[in-house]
Amino acid sequence: MKKFIEEFKKFALRGNVVDLAVGVIIGGAFTGIVNALTNNFINPLLAFILSGFQSWGNLADGTPWTAYGAGAAFITTIINFFITALVLFVIVKAMNKLITLGKKPEAPKAPTTKKCPYCLSEIPIAATKCAHCTSELPKA
Ligand SMILES: [Zn+2]
Repeated sequence: MKKFIEEFKKFALRGNVVDLAVGVIIGGAFTGIVNALTNNFINPLLAFILSGFQSWGNLADGTPWTAYGAGAAFITTIINFFITALVLFVIVKAMNKLITLGKKPEAPKAPTTKKCPYCLSEIPIAATKCAHCTSELPKA
């Protein structure tokens, strides 16, 4: 179970998964704006034209169209969009902080090679004889 949580954490905290989730949510919220525009302005206008310029259509919830009602519904949707975006921004910020917290700075690796004092070639640190110039090396 611990391994499962560990793996899920790794999966969920990968940047691209977060980006994808943000994209889907923003996309959904933006669809809401487009739908609000259609429901509140374009559909009533179409209904008005199709009825032979007799009457405006109704709003999505069935109430008769008024500029005030349509405007309010549309502005509500836009406010919802910005609240969604703001909440996402805060979440992503927290996620990024979590990702950087999870990463420990890498310790510098211990050297595995040294320079031969005679020919200055890179040789294994434990070598007692240089592979390049065959000099006997002083013990370190
Ligand atoms: Zn050498």
